[in-house]
Formats: sequence, structure tokens, C-alpha cells
Amino acid sequence: MVKKIDYLIVGAGLFGSVFAHEMKKKGKTCLILDKRNHSGGNVFCENHEGINVHKYGAHIFHTNDKGIWDYVNSFVEFNRYTNSPIANYKGKLYNLPFNMNTFYQLWGVKTPEEAKNKISEQVKDLKITKPQNLEEQALSLVGKDIYEKLIKGYTEKQWGRKATDLPAFIIKRLPVRFTFDNNYFNDKYQGIPIGGYNILIEKLLEGIEVRLSTDYFADKDYWDSLAKKVVFTGKIDEFYRFKYGKLEYRSLDFKHEVLNQDNFQGNAVVNYTDKDIPYTRIIEHKHFEFGNQPKTIITKEYPSEWKEGSEPYYPVNDEKNSRTYLKYKKLAEKEDTVIFGGRLAEYKYYDMHQVIASALSKTKEL
Ligand code: FAD
Ligand code: UDP
Repeated sequence: MVKKIDYLIVGAGLFGSVFAHEMKKKGKTCLILDKRNHSGGNVFCENHEGINVHKYGAHIFHTNDKGIWDYVNSFVEFNRYTNSPIANYKGKLYNLPFNMNTFYQLWGVKTPEEAKNKISEQVKDLKITKPQNLEEQALSLVGKDIYEKLIKGYTEKQWGRKATDLPAFIIKRLPVRFTFDNNYFNDKYQGIPIGGYNILIEKLLEGIEVRLSTDYFADKDYWDSLAKKVVFTGKIDEFYRFKYGKLEYRSLDFKHEVLNQDNFQGNAVVNYTDKDIPYTRIIEHKHFEFGNQPKTIITKEYPSEWKEGSEPYYPVNDEKNSRTYLKYKKLAEKEDTVIFGGRLAEYKYYDMHQVIASALSKTKEL
């Protein structure tokens, strides 16, 4: 049978959408499936009360790569939003990421030298030469006080694991600075699409057929029979029917609330770093786009272990899962007609710009 479609793409998230867009430009035919009832994957927004609600958690675009920044801006203009989350620990507020404002709030230190001395004092007895896990990495970067107040509780509820059992790289996502600078990212470019992420996805998917509410696995043989190649952006362990066991993911339960007030917390992101508060953060969506609507919408994020029926949001890149993933990766490398890409299929803690870069480089290779 002649296969009419060049690429059957499983997942209309950023990876699938960028891949389809680029291949269409090269004259290839693409069909996208998504089991959700909308495209966009985790960047999808829902408009309520005139506010774009980040349905699957706060998404702030940031990158150091001018090419990627120009690429996304060619579809939709981005605003000047700069992420500067606040941490609430037992009712006291601290600036994030860890910077001179945080050090002043914690210790009253006013100069970088005083702050560095304070951290060295807290680190010197620990004798950590090469940090082996998230706890050691955090302690050696910022000392005991910050670790205990702003990192340990948040991390252990977010990941459901002891900080000593988590990889060090997770905490290296956060800058530590000896300047009074509350920008959460070090990247040169940052913002939110004006009008929301759906515009970006709609533009990427213009002229491409997307079948929603369609689970690839419900009729895999049929879908495979239609296309020359499959681009898979779902869970790689599921693709191989969990042959080497299940990979672990963290999930989140989002509790959205509409409030009859115009401004609830004065900031888009407030993290609750105390272990006794069951959610990790409260997002107030209107602040991503400087909204002045009469009402506001907030979302509390409750982390949980992924189980059948919930959404797999974060790969857990600890040693055990990394070993299992490598076995799946070996199988994936042997496939001639299947391409694996994105956060779930590559089991990687990818940010949006990295997913876009990865999809662009895949399409260039082809
Ligand atoms: P996804 O968006 O997960 O898309 C995969 C799609 O595949 C989904 O729509 C899914 O329904 C579909 N699918 C899976 N299996 C099947 C199947 N069997 N059949 C049909 N369809 C299927 N990045 C940033 O840069 N900045 C941020 O601030 C940021 N915040 C984040 C906050 C949270 C809470 C989360 C979870 C992620 C965040 N990210 C952020 C990361 C960002 O969401 C990802 O990098 C990006 O969305 C991944 O795109 P993707 O296409 O790989 O995956
Ligand atoms: N983190 C923390 N305290 C905070 C914010 C972050 O300890 O107030 C740690 C935590 O381990 C988290 C990691 O830093 O998982 C990465 O944070 P980021 O904000 O990048 O997480 P994401 O937005 O991807 O959930």
C-alpha cells in the first residue's frame, strides 16, 4: 500500500507543532494526533474572565539563543514579562532567585562580600568537595539557612523524594547572584506571547491536519499504516509497552480559583517553600500579561507521583530512572521509521526553548 502521509506526529505539543510546521515548509505531509481535546500540549492556555490561564502550570519563555527568540517572535510578538518569583516561608517573604535581596532579607547583609562570608561560614564545616546530590549541591552553593528555608521543603514536596536522592543538576537551574537582581533567569531574552501561547501554536499548525481526542495507542497499527514515518512525543516507556518497567514521572494537580478581587498576591508566582503547606506555588495568571481585569484567577499546584490517568509532567531523572531510560533509548536508536522527541519521549527536563531547538535540529537533519 502506498503511504500517503510523510509524518504521523503523535502529540500536538511544542515539539510536534514545530516539527510539523518545518516539514510542511519542506513540502511534506503531516498528520498530528493528540489525545487531549486541544493542541499545544502543556503550553495551552484557557481564557476565563479575559485572562489567559496557563492550564498546565506557569510558562515563561526564556532563551539565550537569538535564533530561537526570532523564530518564536516570527509567529507572535512577546511582551517584556520578567519572572521574579517570591518565596513565602512561614509567612515571611523572600526574593528569588537567590540574590543580594534574599541575603539581605535573611541575614541583614548589605554587601556581596558580607553575603559571601556568611555563605562560606555555613559551608565550611560540611566538607563538600564534589556535590553528589541536590542537597549537597544546594548547601555548597547557598549554605544551610537558604537550603533549609527556601529549598529543602519545596524540593521534597515537588519531587516526593529526599533531596539527597535527587540529581544535583535540578538546583543548578536557579541562578545564585551577588547583585540585587530578582530576574529568575540568566537568559538574554524572556517574555510571554502577547495574547497567549495558543496564538503561537495556532500559527505553527496553520494548514496542518490535527486530530484531537485521539489516542495513538488505541489504534496504533492503523495510524502506522498511514504514514512513512512516525514522530512520537508521548511517553517512551508506553511506546515500548513498559518492556523494561515503568519510568517514574511527577504529576501536578492544578486547583484553579476565580476571585472577586483585582489583585490577589501582586506577583505572578509565589512559591511556598515550607514542607507543611501541601502546594508548591500559587500562580496569579493576569500578571504574566499585566492584566487589569476586575477579577483575578489563581492556581495552586499540588505535586503528586504520576499514576495511570494523571498527566506525566516531570521526568524524574534520578539514577534508577536514568538507567531504565537508557535501555529504552537503545531500542529507540534502532528504529528506522520512528523519531522520538520532546520532554516525554526523550525523558528530559526540557524547557520550551530547548524543545523548539531540538525539533528544529531534527527537521534539519532530515
Ligand atoms: P508536551 O507539551 O507534553 O506535548 C506532548 C503531547 O503529546 C501532549 O499534548 C499529549 O497529550 C500528547 N500525547 C502523549 N501521548 C499521546 C498518545 N498516546 N496519543 C496522542 N497524543 C499523545 N518551560 C519553559 O521554558 N518555561 C517555563 O516556565 C516552563 N514551565 C513549566 C511548568 C510546568 C508545570 C511544566 C509541566 C512544564 C514547564 N515547562 C516550561 C516545560 C514545557 O512545558 C515543555 O518544555 C514543553 O511544553 C514540552 O513540549 P513537548 O511537545 O515535548 O511535550
Ligand atoms: N526550587 C526550590 N525552591 C524554590 C524554587 C525552586 O528549592 O523556591 C528548586 C526545586 O528543587 C525545583 C528546582 O529548584 O524543582 C527547579 O525550579 P524551577 O523553578 O526551575 O522548577 P519548574 O518551574 O521547572 O517547576
